[in-house]
Amino acid sequence: MKKKLLLAIDQGTSSSRTVIYDHNARVVASAQQEFPQIYPRAGWVEHDPEAIWASVTAVTRGALDKAGATAADIASIGITNQRETTVIWDRETGEPVYNAIVWQDRRTADYCQAKKDDGLEAGVTARTGLRLDPYFSGTKIAWLLDNVDGVRERAEAGKLAFGTIDSFLLWRLTAGRVHATDATNASRTLLFNIHTQDWDDQQLAMFGVPRALLPDVRDCAADYGIAVADCLGGEVPVCGIAGDQQAALIGQAGFDSGMTKSTYGTGCFVVANTGTEALHSENHLLTTVGMRIGGEVTYALEGSVFVAGSAMQWLRDELHVIDAAPESEAIAKRTGVVEDVYVVPAFAGLGAPYWDPNARGAILGLTRGSGSDEIVTATLQSVAFQTCDLIDAMADDGIRPSVIRVDGGMVANDWFLQFLADVLGVPVERPENVESTVLGAAFLAGYQAGVVASPADIAKLWQRDALFEPAMQAEQRTRLLEGWNDAVGRVRAVR
Ligand code: ADP
Repeated sequence: MKKKLLLAIDQGTSSSRTVIYDHNARVVASAQQEFPQIYPRAGWVEHDPEAIWASVTAVTRGALDKAGATAADIASIGITNQRETTVIWDRETGEPVYNAIVWQDRRTADYCQAKKDDGLEAGVTARTGLRLDPYFSGTKIAWLLDNVDGVRERAEAGKLAFGTIDSFLLWRLTAGRVHATDATNASRTLLFNIHTQDWDDQQLAMFGVPRALLPDVRDCAADYGIAVADCLGGEVPVCGIAGDQQAALIGQAGFDSGMTKSTYGTGCFVVANTGTEALHSENHLLTTVGMRIGGEVTYALEGSVFVAGSAMQWLRDELHVIDAAPESEAIAKRTGVVEDVYVVPAFAGLGAPYWDPNARGAILGLTRGSGSDEIVTATLQSVAFQTCDLIDAMADDGIRPSVIRVDGGMVANDWFLQFLADVLGVPVERPENVESTVLGAAFLAGYQAGVVASPADIAKLWQRDALFEPAMQAEQRTRLLEGWNDAVGRVRAVR
């Protein structure tokens, strides 16, 4: 076998996965492993970095075994990761000073509010494209510096390193030789100036973060050093890194301005390529680095919905009206579009464009004839309506995609995708390979290693599985969207 295989590591929030691809982006083998979630208090979410590392090495070895391959067959490694999750470790020993603080963790909510009260948010958004929200890494770093014994002193003395998960894995893979991250991950920290593409002194001062803590920021396809033989049984270069949503945009070949992808896993993430322009959103969307390849920054607008596929889990585990998520499709098919019942799955507040942490879920419009089928169908519809809110917000900011590329577990549901196209009024495309995130990491690794010649070649490898064209009558669409807006209005705590 020639050195033509690509190995992509997808370190996600609930599991780690390694997929090995051939040079035509076909899956050769994959392995996946869950790892424990740690909830020390209400609103706190942590991961043990050692458990993450153990799961990554296990799935990487597992995938190599299944492929019947060795390190010698792998041209390069790509990494994609849960974004924003924050680790600080000792440069000497490699030992983390505390658990990883996960993106979902809300412990810095009051800290963020205090900074907002000081009128700092507009400046933060102008520099970083983000909001003052616990979601992002910066305030998590500040918490570690302020609350873990000795961490500030050691950080100021240059003895510690901060990284998002990509950076932590890279450090481990290279046996501590490389402390780097890519521009997409950096753009989620609240410390990185997306315009200058450098760590921002004002942001560092705001959160009291010493520069000595921070990794070197590189392109998504770049030389990230060599993974040592201890990890894969032989040396392999690391050539690509991108945060999960940006990797999905790359995996969907979203290289041109206006190209938009929407991922439906636990939550829903819409990312639209805005080209070389860092578009400021007037509608509470985030401005972020979409990708940085060949030194050229491509910006993106991003909106996220907290509850998408997890609403199916709610129907299954709490309401017990389905036994498995895929059943929702047959139910929706026999029920048809539901016009009077609205489910607003604001279980954890509402994300973009509302950003209302205190909103809570509701089922509205029930009549004596409403049953579980209507609730299941209305729940599927709610995911489409929430996407519509994001796409409308993007349109208002001047980005109007002509087609939406979808991926993630929920896009197996054809009924959902047809309804999505109907309410968006925009065609929806599903690729052959709906695992866009890990594929994106493989593309980056392959591009840097010369296995894939150019982004245009990547675009050629992208294949459509199905196209869903809008077919709903305009009046029905209008009625549905009015009903949805009314329902959202009723659950909101902030108006
Ligand atoms: P994640 O990467 O966030 O764990 P996945 O991309 O694996 O998520 O998608 C899993 C989600 O998709 C689950 O929340 C599940 O409820 C949902 N899902 C899977 N299949 C279907 C289906 N046929 N219809 C609706 N939802 C589905």
